[in-house]
Amino acid sequence: MGPIHILGGGLAGSEAAWQIAAAGLNCVLYEMRPQRPTPAHKTDQLAELVCSNSLKSESENTAPWLLKEELRRFDSLLLRAAREARVPGGHALTVDREVFARAVSRAIEENPRIELRREEAVSIAEDAITIIATGPLTSGALAHDIGCLTGAERLFFYDSISPIVEAESIDLAIAFRASRYGKSLDGTDDYLNCPLNREQYERFVDAILAAEAVPSHIPEDNARFFEACLPIEELARRGRETLRFGPMKPVGLLDPRTGLRPYAVLQLRQENLRADSYNLVGFQNHMRFPEQARVFRMIPGLERAEFLRYGQIHRNTYINGPALLTPTLQLRTHPRVFFAGQISGVEGYVESIATGLVAGRHAVELASGAEIRAFPRETAIGSLCAYVSGADARNYQPANITFDLLPALDEPTRLRFRHDKKARHAEVCRRALEKLDEYRSVYA
Ligand SMILES: Cc1cc2nc3c(=O)[nH]c(=O)nc-3n(C[C@H](O)[C@H](O)[C@H](O)COP(=O)(O)OP(=O)(O)OC[C@H]3O[C@@H](n4cnc5c(N)ncnc54)[C@H](O)[C@@H]3O)c2cc1C
Repeated sequence: MGPIHILGGGLAGSEAAWQIAAAGLNCVLYEMRPQRPTPAHKTDQLAELVCSNSLKSESENTAPWLLKEELRRFDSLLLRAAREARVPGGHALTVDREVFARAVSRAIEENPRIELRREEAVSIAEDAITIIATGPLTSGALAHDIGCLTGAERLFFYDSISPIVEAESIDLAIAFRASRYGKSLDGTDDYLNCPLNREQYERFVDAILAAEAVPSHIPEDNARFFEACLPIEELARRGRETLRFGPMKPVGLLDPRTGLRPYAVLQLRQENLRADSYNLVGFQNHMRFPEQARVFRMIPGLERAEFLRYGQIHRNTYINGPALLTPTLQLRTHPRVFFAGQISGVEGYVESIATGLVAGRHAVELASGAEIRAFPRETAIGSLCAYVSGADARNYQPANITFDLLPALDEPTRLRFRHDKKARHAEVCRRALEKLDEYRSVYA
């Protein structure tokens, strides 16, 4: 058996290479920079952080902390480099990006089991176990080859993410359950609907038009919105009624409190595999995060909404994971091909590191003929993998780690902690780490 191939020396690819080498196997890591730059990377270092220098919260018993803690228990190279490169950042793990990337690059370059090839991978080898980790800015030639393997319609180049709010922060005295014309997909009232009267709608449109936008890191991003996923502020700019005839159309919906059709409606959809949370349907946007919170809380029923994720639109190459991947991140049709990092359908630095670690470890299992054991569903790592391989393929959107991706607690425990969210979260973390340690102990 030849070495394992890893395409892309970013966050996911570097972690995957490290895990493979740590298990005693050889691998070849392809990184196209500096010969071929991307529109966002500025250096030739591996594991360059392209934007913020934050690896999110280190506060115990938060979801981002849990994910990092799980990675540390598998001796993640990138989490070790982050500890070395840490700079003051309050509750967050913030790093000096140069120290971080240098530490990762040095560890990879000095490892005799990793051969680093500074060249663009343009195709996927037919006879090697391969991990594709070329990230949101995958080069064109390789993207074409990936499209041939997955079906071009399952490879996306833009990410239009709508915001997600916590279920228990929605005011159910205002939002009502109903599907348009009573046509439910699964026999239930699929949507929660927030009704707006004319005055509320007009004020909402004014607020959207006045809201501050996020500056784009990649200049052409602003100009390349697909017509099918226009940001809501662009719809509002095209005419005051456009939203009411688009994502906020009220047809087929009656407010049970008045018996009348509202003037406009925001629909909230519960995502499968995202317990306890709702997606603001069609509300992808480019507004600054604090602006989104302020403007969307003007919608009746969302006055106290807690946002788990904000809307975004950005360049992103990713596959439709649920249509293609197993929970072990292997292509169902070609199990020797793994996907990791942003291209697998996760969102964020640490999530990319986590899927790199998963793909690296499973590639080792495959290469050595061992059983490929998916990470436990109760863990943050296992929940991310369950999401990218098992969410609704029709409306797939990449995800950051949040508690709503982890399985709910059993009913008695939930009831015990129903008035104490912190205690609930602590229990979810305790359960996750217990399961992770059981899983790990098999390797000991
Ligand atoms: C502009 C921008 C800003 C972002 N800001 C944030 C942020 O603030 N916080 C956050 O959490 N996430 C952010 N993200 C998402 C971020 O990209 C990912 O979180 C993370 O970098 C993804 O890791 P990755 O390993 O999947 O990809 P990357 O880290 O991008 O690594 C992929 C690597 O593959 C290389 N490559 C591409 N094609 C080829 C090829 N054909 N052959 C060989 N090498 C190739 C690239 O040069 C790159 O080094 C941002 C993304 C973009 C594009």
